[in-house]
Amino acid sequence: MRKKIAVIGSGFASLSAACYLAKAGNEVTIFEKNQTVGGRARRLEKDGFTFDIGPSWYWMPDIFERFFGDFDKKPSDYYQLDKLSPAYKVVFEDDEIPIGDDLEKIKATFEQVESGSSKPLQDFIDTASDNYDIAIKNLVYRPGESPLELVTPQTVKKLGAFVSNVSRDVRKKFKNPKLVSILEFPVLFLGATPQNTPSFYNFMNYADFGLGTWHPKGGMYEIILGMKTLAQELGVEIHTNSPVERILVNNNGNATGVQVKGTEQEYDIVLSGADYHHSETLLDTKYRQYSESYWEKKTFAPSSLIFYVGFDKKLKNIEHHNLFFDTDFEKHAHEIYEDAKWPEDPLFYANFTSVTDPGTAPEGCENGFFLIPLAPGLEDTPELREQYFDIVMNRFEKRTNQKVKDNILFKESFCVNDFKSEYNSYKGNAYGMANTLLQTAFLRPNLRSKKVKDLYFTGQLTVPGPGVPPSLISGKLVADLIKKHSR
Ligand SMILES: Cc1cc2nc3c(=O)[nH]c(=O)nc-3n(C[C@H](O)[C@H](O)[C@H](O)COP(=O)(O)OP(=O)(O)OC[C@H]3O[C@@H](n4cnc5c(N)ncnc54)[C@H](O)[C@@H]3O)c2cc1C
Repeated sequence: MRKKIAVIGSGFASLSAACYLAKAGNEVTIFEKNQTVGGRARRLEKDGFTFDIGPSWYWMPDIFERFFGDFDKKPSDYYQLDKLSPAYKVVFEDDEIPIGDDLEKIKATFEQVESGSSKPLQDFIDTASDNYDIAIKNLVYRPGESPLELVTPQTVKKLGAFVSNVSRDVRKKFKNPKLVSILEFPVLFLGATPQNTPSFYNFMNYADFGLGTWHPKGGMYEIILGMKTLAQELGVEIHTNSPVERILVNNNGNATGVQVKGTEQEYDIVLSGADYHHSETLLDTKYRQYSESYWEKKTFAPSSLIFYVGFDKKLKNIEHHNLFFDTDFEKHAHEIYEDAKWPEDPLFYANFTSVTDPGTAPEGCENGFFLIPLAPGLEDTPELREQYFDIVMNRFEKRTNQKVKDNILFKESFCVNDFKSEYNSYKGNAYGMANTLLQTAFLRPNLRSKKVKDLYFTGQLTVPGPGVPPSLISGKLVADLIKKHSR
């Protein structure tokens, strides 16, 4: 039966869910608090420069193909995808290592760094590929309603991969600390340290070395624009500048609509893709499933300090994606997950899409995105941002062997306070809740409210977890659940 469905938020998860729900014949309306759609993946345009505000790594192209394929479309119907070569480079204190665009090239690089390491790398990636296959076929497309969903002949064989962790496995096979850092990097996308991430999640290494790093021409926001177009083609109505103030619940405990700009609007079903913690604050306390102490105990993925910088010249010694792993990773991780303090000597990530996609900066210029991962909930002041901008620029100049500070046309920043005010993010987290062993699948916050009928949730704080591909999957999962429970 055709239902009237209100969707809160317009991030990847909400847009994905809205597309599936509209395709199933429902009347779907999106309410987004911000001026533009996209959530954490919005775009900043300034003086001819274009920046993705949030995500910049396009990994797991198969998930995007599957999403658009479900609507008889292809990613190329909406955006042009290019494989990056090199995929990225990693800068260390004394040298740098480029990561090629296929496994054979990467094996050759590993061999140069640590003689004899190409064979263990092949073995490691073979296991990662196997895990990827199982994850995609048996795990991530499950709604997390019951632990039994995870029990299949394939997953049972992999139980051991949930006992050990990625860090231990990598260190068993590789001795060179640079190779260890490179192989530990992909699981950072899941929001926890490699020590706290089960071995099974090394499927992210297959995503990295096996499937490659891609770039949608114009930036990640092109995917959002594609999904917005698709949603509208399917009949979804989108209201921006429309923060939802309350989720309405009747005396029988059924969600009956939303309050937007002081006006109550009736719906059969409410689905929130806003941050889960915030979504529950839109309900009376008795209808919330999770207490403040529940959220307090969870391992959240980091927040970030990000700078968007317009440079008035082309820069040297950079690639599209650059990881500055030239300081102590363990120390920085400790400062994020244990001490919850500003890092003394931070690692950082920088991208310059203008290196491979000249349309994203004026001719002869470069657009720089610099990101330092931080503990969520840190104090965030203009002075601290300035202090860390200097740290990043000094290190960047030193490592890339050039002067850039006098070539800055402008800089914008985004940090903990912006994550809170722009997205209602819990403690200003950037990437949601981490995928640790105890925060996986049915152990994550539910897609379907256990306290309010006809109320659902989607996005990076629920299943399957943080990242753009998981958010696309989360939208599909919740749409399937709505279909199942609202007959
Ligand atoms: C800096 C950064 C870098 C990242 N890098 C990568 C990357 O390279 N690759 C990758 O795969 N992933 C990356 N991620 C993660 C990825 O961007 C997220 O997992 C994904 O975008 C989350 O989508 P979502 O739909 O769950 O949430 P969101 O995008 O946060 O969407 C939630 C929406 O709800 C809206 N909202 C909140 N409250 C209300 C309300 N009351 N009423 C109406 N609307 C409301 C918000 O404005 C927002 O639009 C990155 C994230 C960040 C922040």
